[in-house]
Amino acid sequence: MRIDIISALPSLFNSLFSTSILHRAIKKNIVKIQIHDLRDYSENKHKKIDDYSYGGEAGMVLQIEPIAKCIEILKKKRNYDTIIYMSPDGNILNQKKCNELSQKKNIMILCGRYKGVDQRVRDIFIDQEISIGNYVVSGGEIPAAALCDSIIRLIPGVMNNESSALFDSFQDDLIAPPVYTRPEEWKGHKVPSILLSGDKKKIVEWNEKQSLKLTKKKNKKD
Ligand code: SAH
Repeated sequence: MRIDIISALPSLFNSLFSTSILHRAIKKNIVKIQIHDLRDYSENKHKKIDDYSYGGEAGMVLQIEPIAKCIEILKKKRNYDTIIYMSPDGNILNQKKCNELSQKKNIMILCGRYKGVDQRVRDIFIDQEISIGNYVVSGGEIPAAALCDSIIRLIPGVMNNESSALFDSFQDDLIAPPVYTRPEEWKGHKVPSILLSGDKKKIVEWNEKQSLKLTKKKNKKD
């Protein structure tokens, strides 16, 4: 898979893509992530990429020219399965969408900043808009990073134990059961004895029961 990310603050991605599972996926050549600094596509001598919004509302808006230039150059190089704009009013990201995107070959992600991007960018170039929730963060980089992580970890070969992503919450509409590790007892708080019993069948049953219980509890909250 190849992911091209267009950003006005590319350094935000540095630590994320140089550590953890994402780094492993990049090193194994399972995924290639290319970050594009919007300023590199500005024709303005000061590398300006934003301007005041028409209509007087306070705040800056990312201009169409550098974004269009970047998208057009990328589109000439390869076919993109989808061009995504991270946006608070987009469709809220869920596991189904992550599964769908994890099977794509080329994805482009545009990160907004300030007041967002000129509406014409959204109208002309964007296939889908994705939100990480009904709240606003300062830029599309953190949402894009969440999106990349959630889809890349699903690609076969990325996780050490491939099957472990399958047992994560939401993968089968169920919440994952609680997990425990050593010590068996901490200040009087014990690990459920069934997990120490070695009885695989009973452990599977217990996990299923806990999953159902947690799923019901979560559904009630939602
Ligand atoms: N003025 C906009 C918010 C702009 S926030 C509004 O009121 O809707 C700046 C940028 O951060 C956005 O362009 C978007 O790319 C990103 N962003 C902010 N919150 C987000 C969210 N919940 N999901 C995805 N992207 C978000």
